Amino acid sequence: MPLLTNPLAGGGGGFGGGGFSDIFDQMFSEFSGGGGGRQGNQGGNDLRYDMSISLEDAFTGLQQDISITVPSECDGCSGSGAADGSKPSTCGTCGGAGRVRAQQGFFAVERTCHACQGMGQVISDPCRTCGGEGRVQRAKTLAVSIPAGVDTGTRIRLSGKGEAGLRGGPAGDLYIFVNVDPHLIFARDGGNLHARIPLPMTVAALGGSIDVPTLEGKMARLTIEAGTQSGRKFRMRGKGMPALRRGNPGDQIIEVQVETPTNLNKKQKELLEAFSNSGNTSPESSSFLERVKRIWADS
Ligand SMILES: [Zn+2]
Ligand SMILES: [Zn+2]
Repeated sequence: MPLLTNPLAGGGGGFGGGGFSDIFDQMFSEFSGGGGGRQGNQGGNDLRYDMSISLEDAFTGLQQDISITVPSECDGCSGSGAADGSKPSTCGTCGGAGRVRAQQGFFAVERTCHACQGMGQVISDPCRTCGGEGRVQRAKTLAVSIPAGVDTGTRIRLSGKGEAGLRGGPAGDLYIFVNVDPHLIFARDGGNLHARIPLPMTVAALGGSIDVPTLEGKMARLTIEAGTQSGRKFRMRGKGMPALRRGNPGDQIIEVQVETPTNLNKKQKELLEAFSNSGNTSPESSSFLERVKRIWADS
């Protein structure tokens, strides 16, 4: 399972390779320096890949192949940047240090060696495939494992799958930024799932049961006791989202909305009128009216 880390913490700073970033604006953006060091072989940049998944997939976890085009180690030179048979040689100007000292008046100033751009090595016969960079653009397919319980903002690190380093430098990481799409039925609140379910007036009054959906794709039976009011919430323990790493799954919380009957036919109207005349069945409504009258009388 991939590690979940915050790539922005303890940042690398600066850009490692550069030169490729504009190609990725559609799909990627570099968001932190990879290896960072200016000296020696420079590390590749970390790359970002945005992936949108459904709430169902976030619930179960997901294995998905992604196709990306990233700067990858050049096959022609195995990343060294030197043409076949030749080798990069130590820079004669800086002796491999990548930096040179220059005397300016009384002061000795150190600056990046121009002869090798700070790499400490020079390539006299650059690889024809990559022009001496040691990396080329290559399309590849990566298997990504999205663990169950991810939420929008979860980052999954694929170590070493980012941009290849310059001339064999260490590769950056690839970060999958997860976005979980909104769901038609369920609203997510951390580990809990909320849904509003219509409840027929007769079931609310008489009691009974209704079927409610779950993210597993199965229906679950919910027992409704007689006299259930609109807005009542039912907690289905452990039926929410699984915990990403450790801990218990969340709950599914169903809020019922009692549905007032509509489009009554003549017979139904007569029945409801007879019901209405049979006695007071709405204590809340009548006591509310009583309270209002008392407030008016007192003022
Ligand atoms: Zn090459
Ligand atoms: Zn040099």
